[in-house]
Amino acid sequence: MDVIWLNKNPILNLQRGRSLRRRLNSWMVGAGLRLGTSRVWGYPRHLIIDLINVCGLKCPICPQGRCEIPRQPTQITPDFFQTLMKKLGPYLYTLTLTNWGEPLKHPRAVELIRYARKFPCYIGFSTNLQYLPDEVARDLLTIGIDEIGCSIDGCTKETYDTYRVGGNFNTAITNLKKLVNMRKELNVDLPKIRWQVLLNRYTESEIDDIIAMAEDIGVDSVVFLPIFLDIARMFTHSPADRLARDKDWLPMNPDLSWYDYKTGDLKNITRKCSKLWDSMVVHPDGAVSPCCAVIEEKDDFGLLDNTMNFWKVWNGPAYRTARKLMKHRKPDPQHNVCNHCIKHGILIF
Ligand code: SF4
Ligand code: SF4
Repeated sequence: MDVIWLNKNPILNLQRGRSLRRRLNSWMVGAGLRLGTSRVWGYPRHLIIDLINVCGLKCPICPQGRCEIPRQPTQITPDFFQTLMKKLGPYLYTLTLTNWGEPLKHPRAVELIRYARKFPCYIGFSTNLQYLPDEVARDLLTIGIDEIGCSIDGCTKETYDTYRVGGNFNTAITNLKKLVNMRKELNVDLPKIRWQVLLNRYTESEIDDIIAMAEDIGVDSVVFLPIFLDIARMFTHSPADRLARDKDWLPMNPDLSWYDYKTGDLKNITRKCSKLWDSMVVHPDGAVSPCCAVIEEKDDFGLLDNTMNFWKVWNGPAYRTARKLMKHRKPDPQHNVCNHCIKHGILIF
């Protein structure tokens, strides 16, 4: 079993298949990125599609749990999902089917994931494992997706309950075991099953026990992800201001944190962002954000519709402005959500 520390390990290289079309596209995206062009003549290599922006839990540091996501609760329609996948699927390296919701709450999640599997990209999603009937588990294990991330913060009910408010620890662990055991019965290697743990003040003392329990259950990896504070105010407040609001959640051990406890700033930051050239986030209603941290509609970069006005958005005014700002590392007096990262930096993980 692998133990992955997202503040120490580089992100995994998630690639699958190699068609000439994808390689050519990738080359065009890479050229735009290297030259810092404001228009990009390739499709995104990485796509996040939020199937549904409803979750059901009340995790205290998550904007969804805090009801700080000012978007209408929506689920993606199968028609729009298929149109989007037909357009972008052939060029993708990775497809993530979670952003600010619980994907398995979408009543047609299995059908959508099955459709996505027609395209040769690495497919994964995260779930809080609160809803996993046997037939859904069996379908997920036989569709051929690559990874299921299972969010369980702690290996005791007491610790789990501090963060996953509204979730049930026993349900989550039972469903984790169900996935692992069913996969054994089906005799398949994929999807890889990852136990994901947010490192906070409460989980930090359970690290060894979580690793032991994960080994015992038989997951493929356990991923420790330091908690990131107050995402809803990420583009309006400095890291130090946000830390002041939620600092009691930080691990005592500074090595397990994204934050420098002396200055209040983020450690490991960069002022370069490749996301503007090679990835895209699509919300269930078709709204497009440049990255998964963008929450407010006013910060969106466009709206995709069923006619697939993709290029109008991808090379539209918001994307072009943000790419120019990023190239010259100069924040702009006009509103653009990327201004904040140019001023304060972006976390590398
Ligand atoms: S389960 Fe996930 S999306 Fe839902 S509130 Fe918790 S962290 Fe947020
Ligand atoms: S610059 Fe910041 S807001 Fe813009 S895409 Fe990158 S990480 Fe997201």
